Amino acid sequence: MSYCASRFHTVRRRTVEVMVGSVGVGGSHPVRIQSMTTSDTHDVTATVKQSIALAEVGCEIVRITAPNVAAAKCLKDIRAQFSAAGFGHIPLVADIHFLPSAAMEAVEHVEKVRVNPGNYADKKKFAVKEYTEADYVEELERLHETFSPLVRRAKELGRSMRIGTNHGSLSDRIMNRYGDTPLGMVESALEFLRIARSHDYHQLILSMKASNPKVMIQAYRLLVQRMVQEDMHYPLHLGVTEAGDGEDGRIKSAIGIGSLLLDGLGDTIRVSLTEDSVYEIPVAQSIAKKAMSLWNTSRPSATSLLLVDAINPYHFERRVTTTLALSDQCRVGPEQPPRVIVRVGSVTELAAAREALASPRLTDTPAEGLLVPINAVSDLEVVGAATARGDAGPPKNFGFEFLALELATTLTPATLAPLLTHSEVRLLLVRAFNANESELLKQFLLVARQNRHFLAAEISPESFPAHESVLRELGHANLVFTLTSAGSPPSASHATGAYRQLVERLRAVGSAAPIWIRNTSGTAVQGEPSFLSKLLEASFLSGGLLCDGVGDFISMETETDVTRATKLAYNVLQGAGARISKTEFVACPSCGRTLFDLQSTTQRIRAQTGHLKGVKIAIMGCIVNGPGEMADADFGYVGGAPGKINLYVGKNCVQYNLPQAEADGRLIALIREHGKWVDPSPHHAANS
Ligand code: SF4
Repeated sequence: MSYCASRFHTVRRRTVEVMVGSVGVGGSHPVRIQSMTTSDTHDVTATVKQSIALAEVGCEIVRITAPNVAAAKCLKDIRAQFSAAGFGHIPLVADIHFLPSAAMEAVEHVEKVRVNPGNYADKKKFAVKEYTEADYVEELERLHETFSPLVRRAKELGRSMRIGTNHGSLSDRIMNRYGDTPLGMVESALEFLRIARSHDYHQLILSMKASNPKVMIQAYRLLVQRMVQEDMHYPLHLGVTEAGDGEDGRIKSAIGIGSLLLDGLGDTIRVSLTEDSVYEIPVAQSIAKKAMSLWNTSRPSATSLLLVDAINPYHFERRVTTTLALSDQCRVGPEQPPRVIVRVGSVTELAAAREALASPRLTDTPAEGLLVPINAVSDLEVVGAATARGDAGPPKNFGFEFLALELATTLTPATLAPLLTHSEVRLLLVRAFNANESELLKQFLLVARQNRHFLAAEISPESFPAHESVLRELGHANLVFTLTSAGSPPSASHATGAYRQLVERLRAVGSAAPIWIRNTSGTAVQGEPSFLSKLLEASFLSGGLLCDGVGDFISMETETDVTRATKLAYNVLQGAGARISKTEFVACPSCGRTLFDLQSTTQRIRAQTGHLKGVKIAIMGCIVNGPGEMADADFGYVGGAPGKINLYVGKNCVQYNLPQAEADGRLIALIREHGKWVDPSPHHAANS
């Protein structure tokens, strides 16, 4: 049973409508945008001020933490003052961890309560214990007793509730039974969901957040699959937790949220950034707008070329491909990270691009291939001179590993022959083939193979059947497949769907050729000139496919600045966990529980440790979502008490209550002790 109506079209998942105050979520409502205040909830004036700031930039639902009963009581005044300021229509949500008593107080004052099933009524002890079936049933009975009063009161008052699972704070009961897995996250929510339903209470929204987009995507998919099995249709709140800040935080959020929205899942979203919360809103709005432009309410017709694909959506496995050697240093294949190609506007810009890309700042993030349009024989001559001439120094000093030549349709295999024979750099010929060009496809591939070069063929899902017999005959040697547009219905309504069609088509002809994900204006859901739009589109397409195990090359062709395009490609690869080129930071967005200034601390730690490629550092305002959320972090910097920091190595707290002034130095000392420190290179030092 699938989690969505189509993996090729965006068919919005049918859900019940849940009212959060006067704001409808799910059903026929648009994707609702929400965020959270970061002030201390006891400071009513500051919290009202932040709520107003959020509402004024378009936040439709505002969440406020209620860490204890006293804070929950403050919600009464916050609600009153927020309404008096003219925002009575914007619902408030109390964020509860641990304390049922705080939830019981909060539900009296605000429109919705979020409970974390991992710690509601469960003091997390990280205890390893075998739960027998009888123990488990007993635990569920205890849970029923503890959670039921809140459900009954929410029902009486007409409040809604979010059962908000976090990967990092699963109960010991769940951890011991299912482990730290998407399945455990789903079961954690289902325990609470069943209790709510036993009281015939249905004003429920669910979430499955994780800092790792792959885990988050799988958990939401699994949750929907399980809900469908049990005929439950509650709306989803989507978010990637602890995504961090800047480009990285936006990319991680867009990968997770965007992938699910493209599959028709998601009714309200929060983009969590370690920045002032108002900056989250335009990002969330842009993501929602793009996804909603694709909404379709009916299942695609049976005329669709394919209705299902064979990728397991609940378990990550990289697609197995052949291995291509594009240079001595640059191989492509299942054992290799996805390779980065950068597009240059024309052959006349090649020299400038080489110079820009040779910057020492790109040492850890090199452009491995350069894509250049070839419109005429004269362009071939320029490339020929550059790739064969001694002073250009190919291949060692060429600046990148291979050249991709995007061929105009007027160029024939014969016109390419001299270049292919003499080039000292490996060439990847790039050409689109219509349904009636099978013979030409064969000729291009044969001429490329003859000279140990490669062909990247663009074949739309619609015309693929016409090429099947020639592709079977030719096999996959020296061949790559790519797309530059979403194709046209009925095969797919977005580029992710078109690439999934391509994967299935290749599987059907037995081809293990690598796939190049090209982000172009034609693959965009809603292309816009802003960098944010380009970043979001790249995250949707490349990030989403990489999280499904698809993609051996990527290129960001909507960005014309070659340095920026290269950086964006590496950041998307890092966000999807497909290629790690720098330190990975897991930073919470901060909230009223935060015990130190997260934004400045994150920036300070990043400045000192951002060069530690492959090291993962978690920076958390408090321990609510950790150390589970830091499960795969190497080091953790966590608020222990006001102004006091606890340091972790993996899941273990190794230093308690350090004054913040000492904590940075101690963190670096710990990194050194564990052999993960290297001194920054001069260009890193200059950049920081
Ligand atoms: S980890 Fe950060 S966002 Fe989460 S509750 Fe603690 S301070 Fe708030």
